[in-house]
Amino acid sequence: MIKIQVPEAAKSIIEQLNTNGFEAYVVGGCVRDSLLGRMPEDWDITTSAKPEQVKEIFKRTVDTGIQHGTVTVLIEHEGYEVTTYRIDGEYEDGRHPRSVEFTGSLLEDLKRRDFTINAMAYSDREGLVDAFDGVKDLEGRIIRCVGNAVDRFTEDALRILRAIRFSAQLGFDMEEETRAAISVIAPSMAKVSKERIQVELTKLLLSDHPERLKYVYDNGIAPYISQYFEDAGRRLREAEKIAWLPSKKHMRWSGFLRLEEPGNGVRILKELKLDNDTIHQTKTLVSLWKTEIPADKPAIRQVMSGLSPELFQDLLCFQKVFCPESHLTRLKTVEKYSEEILLAGDCIRLKDMAVTGRELMDAGMKPGPEMGAVLDHLFQLVLKQPECNNREYLMKSAEHLLKEQA
Ligand code: ATP
Ligand code: MG
Repeated sequence: MIKIQVPEAAKSIIEQLNTNGFEAYVVGGCVRDSLLGRMPEDWDITTSAKPEQVKEIFKRTVDTGIQHGTVTVLIEHEGYEVTTYRIDGEYEDGRHPRSVEFTGSLLEDLKRRDFTINAMAYSDREGLVDAFDGVKDLEGRIIRCVGNAVDRFTEDALRILRAIRFSAQLGFDMEEETRAAISVIAPSMAKVSKERIQVELTKLLLSDHPERLKYVYDNGIAPYISQYFEDAGRRLREAEKIAWLPSKKHMRWSGFLRLEEPGNGVRILKELKLDNDTIHQTKTLVSLWKTEIPADKPAIRQVMSGLSPELFQDLLCFQKVFCPESHLTRLKTVEKYSEEILLAGDCIRLKDMAVTGRELMDAGMKPGPEMGAVLDHLFQLVLKQPECNNREYLMKSAEHLLKEQA
């Protein structure tokens, strides 16, 4: 009998539900990942108990998706989603089911799930419940819809992107009927909300096979995501290199969008409702990655001064992946010099300059554009010659500059 190591907290939730006369299992992604020897992200529980009954049994619960039957049970600061067995009604805008119907049957609940590998349940008491041959498909490394693929993609077109995303995460192929249905139902993607699309695209890009983003284009889905997104695919080259980048959101999105005008890249990210940090960092990388940083310290300090230390590292890493081989020697030197700059504590931020605007004012200089220009001039000087970053020298230079300006 197949045994899965369920965390103690999830086990105790299942046991308490059982004690109260209900069925309960861990289900979905955690069962799939456990069987594959991957670390599950979270442990979801499915139960015959209704949400109100779940809330009666556990002290601390949160109504996370009560209308869909989900209650989060909190155990030692960890949340476990406990969802009542349900049959999904018709899907509204391919988003949430318009209605859900609770059911007493685990089988009905498993039937509504997207893929055979996601439709397995497990409990220590009952063992593995695998009504749709999920184990066989895990072994065959195949993504296959539960039931008729056209029907399942019609109910919720997001499943199309989920199929591609799982194939990218797991390195699995698509089963034939599932693959054929994707192209047919692609236009329905237009009904799916951009946030849900983004979540799947981001997971796809962060996976071991981000180059499978190509499937989104090959299967004619892209035009139904957005025009800009579609256009970006036409320009995409060497997608396999995206996998060489660290699995960080802004790095992988930049890898995909690097050949776009930065403005277009930002438009795509905004349409897809990415968070502002990712948008900002991606914009910076897409704008800068083709810049050849010379292997000399003043120039390197200049570039470093405009970026956070992490983003500067990311930029170098990005360039190593995508620049022509002939640039690698220079990039190695730039990297070495940048480390020396940090180690030496050279001033690369205005705030670390030995003189501040406040001090210039205390010395009798008037605030205003001239003073701004003086500060900037001093900063440029310090970037070129870090040894100049001492108060006395900079104050003297400032006075000198102001005299020149007068
Ligand atoms: P991840 O590792 O990304 O969390 P997961 O399989 O847990 O993968 P979730 O999106 O967390 O995916 O969904 C949990 C489970 O709910 C899935 O395994 C699947 O059984 C079911 N599910 C999720 N989304 C859908 C959907 N759009 N259609 C049908 N079933 C779905
Ligand atoms: Mg999950």
